[in-house]
Amino acid sequence: PDLDIDLIRKILGILEQNPYARAFKSLGSVPNLDEYKISLNTDIKLDQRRYNAPTTSQVAAIWVQGSDPQNCFDRSVVVHAKKGDRPLYIRAYYGCYDPLSYPLFFPRGETGWNRWMPYDNEDIQDEDFGDNEGLVDTIVAGESRGDRIGKRIVLPRTFPGGDRDMQRRLLDAMAIVQRWGKPDYFITMTCNPYWEEITHNLMPGKLPQDRPDLVARVYKAKQGDMMDLLTKGKHFGEVAAYVHVTKYQKRGLPHEDILLIMKTNSKLASPDDYDRVISAEIPDKEKHPILHDLVVKHMLHGPCGELKKSCPCMIEGQCRFHYPRDFCDATQQGKDSYPIYRRRDDGRGVRIRGANLDNRWVVPYNPSLLMRYNCHINVEACSSIKAVK
Ligand SMILES: [Zn+2]
Repeated sequence: PDLDIDLIRKILGILEQNPYARAFKSLGSVPNLDEYKISLNTDIKLDQRRYNAPTTSQVAAIWVQGSDPQNCFDRSVVVHAKKGDRPLYIRAYYGCYDPLSYPLFFPRGETGWNRWMPYDNEDIQDEDFGDNEGLVDTIVAGESRGDRIGKRIVLPRTFPGGDRDMQRRLLDAMAIVQRWGKPDYFITMTCNPYWEEITHNLMPGKLPQDRPDLVARVYKAKQGDMMDLLTKGKHFGEVAAYVHVTKYQKRGLPHEDILLIMKTNSKLASPDDYDRVISAEIPDKEKHPILHDLVVKHMLHGPCGELKKSCPCMIEGQCRFHYPRDFCDATQQGKDSYPIYRRRDDGRGVRIRGANLDNRWVVPYNPSLLMRYNCHINVEACSSIKAVK
């Protein structure tokens, strides 16, 4: 049901010319079809934490090189001729392997290359080699002194994201906790690719994922504004110290993890304090229509679990973020370092992504931050030191 019929028609039209497709199609008129077999190389055992199932057009496809972990690079297309005959392997280095594996890249079945193509290395020998192009290259270029081959580069701590930089930042963060104590807020902000600052600056027909430079710039401006609001603007009160990190997810969108350590007079002390700044409920649609829509758009998790077992958050049959949570009449201090937020069974719910979601699916948020930034911003009261690491 998810297939686009127009797209399928287009692909069929393109493959009309493909000699392999014609051959496969003609199998339809072959007698004793039972004796034929077409093997496709598939593997359902992907680690979903590293290879998130593609849910948007930002990821086109994931190609798995073979299904046998022992021989994962022994790629081949297997053709079984007749029952009892030995299967024929079309190896990865055969000229027809690429057009068979990637028919849309080779719509007319072009082979492009073959094993006996003469090797042309004239251009390579004329190249001027630098220091870092590999041992063989350096020798080919005429270098005979061992100490001249290869060059070790140690990235300085001023290089963002380098080993020394990361080590320094970890030590800084640990020192901050040692001096100021446990964090009070854990805030996650995720870039919204449909912010109007992004969409208004796209050329016709372009999508946000075509312009990672624009997405990153707008995100950086918003993220800077939010850090100012939290620290200088004292949005949650007086901040004693903070640490934060920008990460780029697999799909290319930036997001931020922020920890705030508050001064004593601004610390969250009771369930009433939590309720004042953090909500985990769907707002009243009549009283707060804009906030209601933003929560529905950005702050509902899932559906996952029993409603949708294929959700990327599912690991071994469980949602790794523990949704849906239980209904709860009043906010309580939880056993671990996170409180259990109020999620009243008030009958409110919305139909979204093919499921009815109620307060059990709301990711905790701060209403005014959500209103101001129009993106996923998860705000949690936290007092765990683990988050800092
Ligand atoms: Zn989930």
